[in-house]
Amino acid sequence: MNRINADLLHALGELDDALAVLDGDHLVALNAPMQALVPGEPGQAAADWAAPVLGLTTALEAPLGERQRCGVSGEYVAQRVALDARHVLLRLSDERARLHHLQRQLDDREGLLFTSRSLTVSEMGSVLAHELNQPIGATANLLRGLKLRLARRHPDSTEELAALDKAVQQVTYASQIIGRVREYTQSRQPKTELLDLVDLVHQSLALLDWDLQREAVQLRLRLPPNPVTVQGDAVMLQQVLINLLRNALDALRLDRPAEPQIEIDLQTEGARAELRVADNGPGITPPTEARLFLPFSSTKPNGMGLGLSICRSLIEMHQGRLWFSRRDAGGCCFHFALPLRAAAPQPTLEKMT
Ligand code: ADP
Repeated sequence: MNRINADLLHALGELDDALAVLDGDHLVALNAPMQALVPGEPGQAAADWAAPVLGLTTALEAPLGERQRCGVSGEYVAQRVALDARHVLLRLSDERARLHHLQRQLDDREGLLFTSRSLTVSEMGSVLAHELNQPIGATANLLRGLKLRLARRHPDSTEELAALDKAVQQVTYASQIIGRVREYTQSRQPKTELLDLVDLVHQSLALLDWDLQREAVQLRLRLPPNPVTVQGDAVMLQQVLINLLRNALDALRLDRPAEPQIEIDLQTEGARAELRVADNGPGITPPTEARLFLPFSSTKPNGMGLGLSICRSLIEMHQGRLWFSRRDAGGCCFHFALPLRAAAPQPTLEKMT
């Protein structure tokens, strides 16, 4: 009894869980987290000690190993384990702390995904504005030219001339709207902070952990032991990485090889960092490759075909480059390179455009 008491008190003191040892219906020892939750004294009757916590007395009678909820709102979970023929270890976990921690993790994750989604919408606006601007401008010019020619050749076609005027007005209105979208999206500059690409890889993988597990994809990471510092907008760069990883996962799901694999390889070369995302999926046919970075080109049933063009523009905003290569072993490899920065914080950060 004394031996168990001394050893246990020492061992329990090292643990973060709230633990108590009981001998029959008496308390033998409590560690500090248990004292904080339910204060008591060695030798005290277990029923007296447990009384202040609703349901704890009943939990002390429950079969060994069974998890019992107790506390006013079921905030504690009690579980008893036999230590030997006489002694029982009681563990009381405070679910509020665990749930609070879980909620914070979910909030952080949702916050990041929300920012990333709104960025995608904004980037899509920018791509659309860029793509529509040209045909709308050309249409306005053609209509004006047509009107001039018509006025010269058939000056009495007043109805047709008025219709052409209206068409020019409508197209001008459309181009003004596009102009506003461009103004809005161009005013959003990337944040310029120093960030570690190794961290960014881990954060992005944490957001995709469920997808990676569900698809049972083997992940191979080749990351340097030291931080790889670049300057830029963490959310934008994370969006690029997540897009490339999602594309790799899609490819592996749509045409699954025997052992699906994704490799992430981060290296530094001279003044730049290069990150590669490779998969052993079906790869890309030459016609798809020719249109790979053009907006709205997708081979997926529900694809928008905007991901890679947005990724490329985000990397270019960071003075980097994004490109594609074929893997000898089959599958695709997407690379992006960014200028390296010194890890120490700099007093003034240059503005990137
Ligand atoms: P989306 O994912 O909406 O199709 P993207 O611009 O991200 O748009 O991708 C364009 C196309 O590039 C995809 O539809 C697919 O055909 C091809 N692609 C991209 N990544 C891969 C990959 N890892 N493996 C095979 N094909 C890919």
